[in-house]
Amino acid sequence: MITQAVIRRKSEGKPLLIAGPCSAETEEQVMQTAVLLQKIGIDWFRAGIWKPRTRPGSFEGVGSVGLPWLKRVNEELGMKTTVEVATTQHVEDALRYGIDMVWIGARTTANPFAVQELANALSGVNIPVMIKNPVNPDVSLWLGAIERIEKSNVGEIGAIHRGVSQFEKSMYRNKPEWQMALELKKQRPAIPLICDPSHIAGNRELIEQVAQMALELKMDGLMIETHVNPDYAWSDAAQQVTPDQLSHIIQRLVCKQELPDGVALHTIDELRNSINYIDQQLIDLLSYRMQIVGEIAQFKKLHKMTIFQEERWNALSEKHKETAARIGLNPEFVYQIFKEIHLASIDKQTDIINKKSE
Ligand code: PEP
Ligand code: MN
Repeated sequence: MITQAVIRRKSEGKPLLIAGPCSAETEEQVMQTAVLLQKIGIDWFRAGIWKPRTRPGSFEGVGSVGLPWLKRVNEELGMKTTVEVATTQHVEDALRYGIDMVWIGARTTANPFAVQELANALSGVNIPVMIKNPVNPDVSLWLGAIERIEKSNVGEIGAIHRGVSQFEKSMYRNKPEWQMALELKKQRPAIPLICDPSHIAGNRELIEQVAQMALELKMDGLMIETHVNPDYAWSDAAQQVTPDQLSHIIQRLVCKQELPDGVALHTIDELRNSINYIDQQLIDLLSYRMQIVGEIAQFKKLHKMTIFQEERWNALSEKHKETAARIGLNPEFVYQIFKEIHLASIDKQTDIINKKSE
């Protein structure tokens, strides 16, 4: 019987940390990873047993044969375990092996039929259920899935932000939609919200930055994919970290204090969070702009056009200055920024064109 909330632990002053491999692969890999995670103080162990793969042919999980391995993690190491469920059969199997919490994956959340099937299977089941945002940036779909599971009277409900799919390339595997996560928090403040930096980042270098951002936005926890030997992982190798790397990430993360009573909500921290969010978006947009510059370079090369197009640059810089003046920005400041961007763009085009012609 769940007597206290396990997902929202802010009252204890620290976020919920869930770690473990993308997929359970072998009993040894599960046990070795769990032992190391336990040593660094992690008490929730995740592992995908059934993997919802976008394309056929990828590793689709070991299936229920992996559940006894998680039972061992619980019995021998005292860690709590959590897996993704996508069908009634998954729920039944997970419960039979004493899994302590389940989550609904992003692809499943996007499908109300599947969520309803899970809601029925979870009816009256007294364990916490976490619901990832759908793969598309649709807060109603996310809320709808939460509402369906709420009707099942499960132990506790949590939400997980794992970013959303995008067509254009960016530094993220799944672009974070912090605004969508904040909207969910605004509409359902009682539902704890945690972040999955691994699936947002898609590569291990970005995980710390995304995790810190989640803490800046006062999220209630983190789920970070961790593998004893990440480079050889059977799924999501690039984004998994070793338990040792996880320990370093955790030590560097700064967990902000809750606002003391009586302090107005719009403190400097709140404002800086917004600035951080905007800066991330600027960088992301610059990266996307640079990709398009690359395509323009190919076009210019093919049609033997000059890299510098004077008329266009003059017209654009005038237009930027006018727009800036109209909305109260210093036109010279905006001009200087675009001058720098334009210079970088010319450098990139020069590189591309020279490389191709060598
Ligand atoms: C996972 O957590 O292993 C997973 C498949 O995540 P998502 O549903 O966010 O893609
Ligand atoms: Mn994964």
